[in-house]
Amino acid sequence: NAEQLKSALNKLDGQKYGTYKQLKGTYQFDRFKLAIDHVQVDPYAPPSKMRIIMNRDTAGIPAELLDSKDKIIAVADFLTRAFGESIKKHKNGAKMNSKNIKILIDRPGEEILERTSVVIGEHELEVRFEVGLPAAGRRILGKAAADIITGILPKIADDSLLYQNLDQKGLEKQVSLVLDQMHIRQVLNQKNLVAFVANGAILPRNSGVSDKPLEGAVPFSSPDNLKVTIDLPSGNAVTGMGIAEGITLIVGGGYHGKSTLLQALERGVYNHVPGDGREMVITRSDAAKIRAEDGRNIEKVNISTFINNLPAKKDTRAFSTENASGSTSQAANVMEALESDASLLLIDEDTSATNFMIRDARMQKLIAPDKEPITPFSEKVKPLYDDENVSTILIVGGSGDYFDVADQVLMMDEYRLKDVTDAAKEIAASDADKKGNMSDEKFGEISQRIPLKSGFSKSGKDDRLKAKGRTTIMYGKEPIELAGLEQLVDDSQTNCIAVMIDYLRHNVLDDTLTLSEAFDQVYKHMERNGLDALSPYSGHPGNLARPRKQEFIGALNRYRGFKIKG
Ligand code: ADP
Ligand code: MG
Repeated sequence: NAEQLKSALNKLDGQKYGTYKQLKGTYQFDRFKLAIDHVQVDPYAPPSKMRIIMNRDTAGIPAELLDSKDKIIAVADFLTRAFGESIKKHKNGAKMNSKNIKILIDRPGEEILERTSVVIGEHELEVRFEVGLPAAGRRILGKAAADIITGILPKIADDSLLYQNLDQKGLEKQVSLVLDQMHIRQVLNQKNLVAFVANGAILPRNSGVSDKPLEGAVPFSSPDNLKVTIDLPSGNAVTGMGIAEGITLIVGGGYHGKSTLLQALERGVYNHVPGDGREMVITRSDAAKIRAEDGRNIEKVNISTFINNLPAKKDTRAFSTENASGSTSQAANVMEALESDASLLLIDEDTSATNFMIRDARMQKLIAPDKEPITPFSEKVKPLYDDENVSTILIVGGSGDYFDVADQVLMMDEYRLKDVTDAAKEIAASDADKKGNMSDEKFGEISQRIPLKSGFSKSGKDDRLKAKGRTTIMYGKEPIELAGLEQLVDDSQTNCIAVMIDYLRHNVLDDTLTLSEAFDQVYKHMERNGLDALSPYSGHPGNLARPRKQEFIGALNRYRGFKIKG
């Protein structure tokens, strides 16, 4: 029990650091069990992994806040943040040197994601965290360790897990907000909308390195004709802009807030915490940001819809390259998003290849079609919607090429959005240079590729997948670069993708399933058994947060050893 642990730690004082290993095991404290799952081998190794396991009755969180999966995710997120805050408070208030106190828990950003940091089961609530066991040189600081684990830790737990000590209003608000957000996302489908932005939403962020809301920002307000009001489960109603399926063009001068709006829509696939400003910015959950990403690897992607007649007769129905150009990378990103079932594409001129997006009438006159391999997106965006039912929201501030095909044209004017569809259509209709037969175009073929197991046969030490921050997964010595996946928002999602790939290659790939089907198998396993089940460790599973299908498949697509059948 806790007393025995305390005296064991005191006895370890001054011994070789490795002796900490003996601590592995489970200890009964007053209000919880402490499981020490993994002990670090030296003071500089990643900190030791532990769990607090508390009865739900002890914690006392009302059952009606925990009676659905969505509610549990909201509560678990809240407790993770509360535990993190509580660590800070007790670290600063401790009598001992706070530099010796290293207690860590996963740190969620502005999004509320399903995570392994707090898991709430039918009877128990589990918190997964790490403790850096204190040392002087390579000797154990046993007294300090005892103070941390048996003194400070229980206080942290009491403050952040017992309902009586929690910010109860804040908790209720978060649960009810998540339910409202989930509801709006459902209503989008029923009303044939692809996105919703509430009046009053704060879209811009504090800075390039802070995801908090910008103070003093101009709140969003919907053009009158796009206003919709949605009744929410919380009993409130929210009014804002509903963006309909189809093609939505966002125009406006530079620095007027176009990219900021699109970025908010990108993040709208996730739920946000109260106070974020984007709580009521909700996008279809399968929306995919599409950008140019030159230099990326492409493996047998059918980009023939956009690119044909390449010099040297390179086959674009199964196009491979280790160093894609801006336009080929953007074409591949579109095709891969469609392969992973996106029903909405989000495109910003700032991160697009111009020759992929537009080719104006003058250039068409100068260069014969059979000399230009690229069919620009402007000629495919309408067939994409008509044939495949995939909508697009795109920013193009410098060309009117999309006026003909856009279902609505919205102008950002000093951070205020106006509907200018009629004016844009008039201009398009009166233009002598207007495009001819764009709507006759078919979208073209979307291939469903089959990944091969043999792409994942590294040997020995190289056969390990490990995330390094948000944007890289190391596969042995080989980095998989994920910086192009702008909707991957959290380090723990990247961790999760790494273990999902591990599960995929060992348990799913059989050289017959398509990429999309293979993901669905992994997802089914996660749904049935929880994120924990993906972890190679028993006990503390590491910090995992659920990624979307689009980012998981996106990561595979960026693996340079990826092999495709055929
Ligand atoms: P654009 O894409 O039209 O060039 P951005 O979206 O990049 O413009 O925005 C330009 C700047 O304006 C950014 O610094 C952004 O933070 C700020 N901004 C965007 N929207 C607002 C707003 N609603 N209120 C105040 N500042 C904003
Ligand atoms: Mg911009």
